[in-house]
Amino acid sequence: MARYTDAVCRLCRREGAKLFLKGDRCFSDKCAVERRAYAPGQHGQGRPRFSDYGLQLREKQKVKRMYGLMEKQFRRTFFRASQMKGRTGDNLLLLLERRLDNVVYRLGYTTSRAEARQLIKHGHFHLNGRKATIPSIMVKAGDSVTLRDKSKKVVRISGALETLEEKSVPQWLEINTAESTGTIKALPTREDVTHPIQEQLIVELYSR
Ligand code: SF4
Repeated sequence: MARYTDAVCRLCRREGAKLFLKGDRCFSDKCAVERRAYAPGQHGQGRPRFSDYGLQLREKQKVKRMYGLMEKQFRRTFFRASQMKGRTGDNLLLLLERRLDNVVYRLGYTTSRAEARQLIKHGHFHLNGRKATIPSIMVKAGDSVTLRDKSKKVVRISGALETLEEKSVPQWLEINTAESTGTIKALPTREDVTHPIQEQLIVELYSR
């Protein structure tokens, strides 16, 4: 599967926003957006002028990069959102939130969605008692995501477990730290996506 392998901080600088792609570094003063608050490249420090299309494109790229999807996968998710009842923009964000890699990240097991994706692919999590190795699986209300007992010894995971109780989880999720199990109490709503996103611009882009 295709994946982005270049420096991820460039993506944040391009979008002019923190996309939280690098775990703890994003909360430190080493964050590239804070140190160099302009777009990467030779003309990055020029004054950006965006057309309507440019604004729509940047918003789509921002969300796609934040959730770590490639274009084809993102477009497929948009198509699915457009087939659902309700507002397409809201549906798109809620489908992205329901991805297993996002849930593992939101539960606090990892510091980034990319790390969550890798741990899922390596078989460290069970969904409803069965091994789940596909990061794009959509969770449903009532599902449970459990860390495998054997995986608790993995250095990266044991470090995260130590700080798990201090982390806050969104209200649509619940975590039992003693059993290392997260439960999806209800499906997320638009209000649960707190990052500033103008989803209407994405709908306009794909409706051209
Ligand atoms: Fe983005 Fe995090 Fe890099 Fe800052 S440290 S630029 S938020 S990926």
